[in-house]
Amino acid sequence: MRPFNYIVAADDAIAVNAASRDPASKFLAGGTTLIDLMKLNVSQPDQLVDINKLAHSDISSVNGGLLIGALTKNSDVVMNAMVQQHFPILAKAILSGASPQLRNMATVGGNIMQRTRCPYFRDVTMPCNKRAPGSGCPALTGHNRMHAILGGSDRCIAVHASDMCVALTALDAVLILKSADGERKVPIEKFYLVPGDNPEKENVLNPGELIVAVELPLSKFALRSHYLKVRDRSSFSFALASVAACLSVQHGTISDARIVLGGVATKPWRCQDSEKILIGKPVSAAAFAQAAAAAVAGAMPHKHNKFKVELAKRSIVRALEIAALGVT
Ligand SMILES: Cc1cc2nc3c(=O)[nH]c(=O)nc-3n(C[C@H](O)[C@H](O)[C@H](O)COP(=O)(O)OP(=O)(O)OC[C@H]3O[C@@H](n4cnc5c(N)ncnc54)[C@H](O)[C@@H]3O)c2cc1C
Repeated sequence: MRPFNYIVAADDAIAVNAASRDPASKFLAGGTTLIDLMKLNVSQPDQLVDINKLAHSDISSVNGGLLIGALTKNSDVVMNAMVQQHFPILAKAILSGASPQLRNMATVGGNIMQRTRCPYFRDVTMPCNKRAPGSGCPALTGHNRMHAILGGSDRCIAVHASDMCVALTALDAVLILKSADGERKVPIEKFYLVPGDNPEKENVLNPGELIVAVELPLSKFALRSHYLKVRDRSSFSFALASVAACLSVQHGTISDARIVLGGVATKPWRCQDSEKILIGKPVSAAAFAQAAAAAVAGAMPHKHNKFKVELAKRSIVRALEIAALGVT
């Protein structure tokens, strides 16, 4: 690990000013991802700006929705009564990830900013366009069982690893970002970028910009939503495929829907074509199958992950079936 400066920020202004003065800075929240990456020399910041003393660890109710501070621990989000009542899919998604010990340390902001688990990205002896732009992508022809079938490019097929962000995308979450220039809001759906020619650029956060909170608007999906995660073992494992499925049903007809995929794409993958197929149709196996087929219509599988196409389809159907029953 390379030597680095360490400062503890007492307020937002100190944090963003310190980080924008030195572009090779990183904010330190729970440290459950960043410290690992530093030990592996994948991340080599000059300076760590510890943000744990900032006042962003509360959850409050706003206009029927919620404002969740970026430093709220993942376990505190799960245990929050308002989250459990109005956004149960968020609690379920977070609970499906990592371990209790990690969730007790991990923060909402850190979860949003977590890096891919692609083994080539995490091994500095291997080329990786995301870590070392222009060096190549061994996953394209190598071990790609865990990799993306949606949103990839000929430069990168690394999967976005978060469970929480799949649910946040289905809930139309908006991120509140703060920099030395002030605050701005970005819907989470527009926050992440697909790799294209520049896999090193993963999101629209500017250098030195801090995530301060996540806004969740009032949800119509509390009654009928489900997060389904399929993985190699039933706990402490990243997704092979996951689905956040939300339905709003009036007199047996679907009036609104969200389908977002995890584990199969380079970012939390919203399936708008599938949602459009569902809206206006009665709840039925035929509609769910049609929506699932549309979700993977553009899939580009690789040698070892062709199974993900069928897995994603079946997972969507299963998640929709459970959501329709009203059992989260
Ligand atoms: C063994 C293991 C298993 C895991 N399994 C899963 C899983 O199954 N599903 C899943 O979803 N996740 C999983 N995770 C990932 C885990 O959720 C993340 O490690 C955690 O959420 C990161 O949060 P943190 O606060 O510790 O972030 P840190 O490690 O402190 O920071 C991570 C990154 O976010 C940046 N950052 C942190 N806060 C902010 C902010 N407010 N604004 C801007 N940038 C910020 C940091 O600079 C850093 O680059 C696993 C992790 C481990 C180690």
